[in-house]
Amino acid sequence: MDVNTKLVVLDKIYRVYDDFTGKLDLACQKYCAHCCTCNVTLTTLEGYRIARHLISSGQSSLFEKLQAVLSSKRFQPVVTTNKLAELCALGKDLPLESSDPAWGPCPLLKNDECLIYLQRPFGCRCMVSKHNCRETGYADMDTLVLTVNNVCLQYMEHIDAHGFTGNLSDVLDVMAKEQNRQHYKSNKLKVAGTSLIANRPIKVLMIPPEHRHEVKPILDALNRIQVPMK
Ligand code: SF4
Ligand code: SF4
Repeated sequence: MDVNTKLVVLDKIYRVYDDFTGKLDLACQKYCAHCCTCNVTLTTLEGYRIARHLISSGQSSLFEKLQAVLSSKRFQPVVTTNKLAELCALGKDLPLESSDPAWGPCPLLKNDECLIYLQRPFGCRCMVSKHNCRETGYADMDTLVLTVNNVCLQYMEHIDAHGFTGNLSDVLDVMAKEQNRQHYKSNKLKVAGTSLIANRPIKVLMIPPEHRHEVKPILDALNRIQVPMK
């Protein structure tokens, strides 16, 4: 699948998810940005999409803003969602990972507004809450939402199986370079010396038995996504 086809599929996954969350009673609204921290993660496909947008919309200076936080503490995943699903299925120990909102706001947040809102990655789209996090201090999510989030993350990683996952600032630091974007397009991106981790195809889906019935329509919608012909 070429990169443009993957981007079309990515948009369709976003739409399936938006249809799902559109039916939920959520407190999320514009300028509510308590969840916009420096700990957001994404795949290289999403990073490629955001980088292309920053360049085409004349916002390349935001790359410098992202680079400025590379020396600060931020969440850097050590396993991808598909690897996590495999470890869970095998009953293996999961790596310890910690993330703290106190590490700071997202570098793409300005006056409580996302500078790339329409292009924001799934890690931001799937951060939803039934109650305002500013009041409660945490996002209040049903476990079903967590399951749907994981399934969508697994599909997104699957279509970017030749790519990588990492923190927003780290992925965009890689994608800021034209040569890296070209290598990414031809599945030849090398990320030695960075904190990015290799994506994997889906081997097992992370769906607990109690959610199988409710998740089925989402799975059906994801499986119905047509891969456009070139
Ligand atoms: S997840 Fe919480 S902070 Fe983020 S938009 Fe929703 S209610 Fe606001
Ligand atoms: S990319 Fe946008 S939506 Fe996501 S955390 Fe940053 S400011 Fe918030």
